[in-house]
Amino acid sequence: MRGNDMYPFIDMHCDTLHLTAEGGADALRKNGGMLDFERMKNAGQMAQFFAIFFPPKKWIKHSDEDLYTTLRDNYRAALGANSDIILPALCASDIERNYTEGKMSAVLTIEDGRMVDGKIENLVRLHEDGVRAIALTWNGENCFGYPNSDDSNAMALGLKPFGFEAVEVMNSLGILIDVSHLSDGGFYDVAKLSKKPFIATHSNARALCPHRRNLTDDMIKTLADCGGVTGLNFCADFLPKDLSSPESTAKLLADHALHIMNVGGEDVLALGSDFDGIDKNVEVCEPTKMHLIFDELQKRGVSSRQLEKLASENVLRVMREAIG
Ligand SMILES: [Zn+2]
Repeated sequence: MRGNDMYPFIDMHCDTLHLTAEGGADALRKNGGMLDFERMKNAGQMAQFFAIFFPPKKWIKHSDEDLYTTLRDNYRAALGANSDIILPALCASDIERNYTEGKMSAVLTIEDGRMVDGKIENLVRLHEDGVRAIALTWNGENCFGYPNSDDSNAMALGLKPFGFEAVEVMNSLGILIDVSHLSDGGFYDVAKLSKKPFIATHSNARALCPHRRNLTDDMIKTLADCGGVTGLNFCADFLPKDLSSPESTAKLLADHALHIMNVGGEDVLALGSDFDGIDKNVEVCEPTKMHLIFDELQKRGVSSRQLEKLASENVLRVMREAIG
């Protein structure tokens, strides 16, 4: 037998939680978007990272604090109401135990750490709330540092002093440092400073698609040397050779997967779909389609062992090493 039943997977990034801002906690069980608990279950999924994403302030009516508490409470309510199929996870062994008990896992994350607001006590609070990964920036500057940019000078900017302090605190608290969206300079500062493996939850290979959100070969090697992972992103803007022709297919995802494995080895690759944060017009458009990637990679000679690592084991390893 082939396909996703053989590879229970962990997806490190989706923006599905924002659907609950209007639809309430019930929206996580079943919705018209790209991901929900029912389709995760049908796909045989092991775990999903759910990000609380902070859009640019001009896009939202509420304060960051309101947005955070609303989505966090919706997340908790949805997990409480669906404990027949999915449970929260704070570490790798939670995911493994839930899986053994026939249940999926959810991990709470943050996309754009701006609500930390330069205060260590806010990192402590997020950790206490169960947050286990924080994307230091989204596409704007904040207390940690600077975002990805087409301007090479801006892209070279490193972490701010608070960013340096935060890396150490996140290491010791046990919060994964997510460098997707960060400037290249910030990436290398994290690589230099972090004593624990770190992650790019949803970034592809810049050598194949020259988008600023993707990782260069040197960054992939550096990430691998630090024991981290990058999650394949299904966004049609981050996959094609020609940036003016957005396209997202299982074949393109397999191209990036193979390239990343060739450059950084089989321990650096993971999944970070970006479901509900990207346009729906993509071939792998929901968890039940994930097998298309595994099938394509299998066709191209990737071994079952390598697919197991890509699907879940690499992420579990990083979690074990970085957050216990
Ligand atoms: Zn993102």
